[in-house]
Amino acid sequence: MIIAIDGPAGAGKSTVAKLVAKSLGYLYLDTGAMYRALTFKVLEEGIDIADTKKITDLASKSIISFINNPDGQIKILLDGIDVSLDIRQSRITKLVSDVAKIKGVRQVMLKLQRELGIKGKVVLDGRDIGTVVFPDAEKKFYIDAGLKERVKRRYKELKGLGQNVTVDAVEDDLSNRDKIDSNREFAPLKKADDAIYVDTTDMTIEEVVSKILDSL
Ligand code: C5P
Repeated sequence: MIIAIDGPAGAGKSTVAKLVAKSLGYLYLDTGAMYRALTFKVLEEGIDIADTKKITDLASKSIISFINNPDGQIKILLDGIDVSLDIRQSRITKLVSDVAKIKGVRQVMLKLQRELGIKGKVVLDGRDIGTVVFPDAEKKFYIDAGLKERVKRRYKELKGLGQNVTVDAVEDDLSNRDKIDSNREFAPLKKADDAIYVDTTDMTIEEVVSKILDSL
């Protein structure tokens, strides 16, 4: 079975997807991490963010892979190097949606995501999983929450990672990314018609996980 979990930034998708995958013994695929890894490389190579051709070339030349450790830890590798922490930096978060809106980049990622997920027994989280990457996924969820609540959650998460952020900066980031992700031309963020909508604003993580597991 393929389980697709989409929704806006900070709704808790990755936390929930990880727990659902763990409880089913499935693979977890964080598709946002793939766009982040590419953005990291764009910055490392000093490529202009407006140079869509160079960025697309870079995407097709890059090797992005995951390690799912038995202890539940997941690492993302860029050309064989662990970039799991680097990709959470705010300089990456600021630019990732501009990289992710490039058509050529999405084509490269789409192919890779399909290759990684096609065998099934997988939970993927992202923005376009239920609509574009796996439109035939057996189960689709759209995980949402009010902006204020998402800001609160993301602020707590980033503080936990030791980042020096402010609530205002987190709010700016989430609304900015939501705007770009929802309005882009290719594979915009959107609930698939057949996805189950879950408003998690007043729910705990455990409640969301149970709701998903109960509806399988
Ligand atoms: O999930 P996360 O917030 O880490 O994703 C980072 C960014 O990657 C998103 O804001 C979006 O621009 C992009 N993304 C995407 N399609 C996906 C997953 C993420 O465009 N399937």
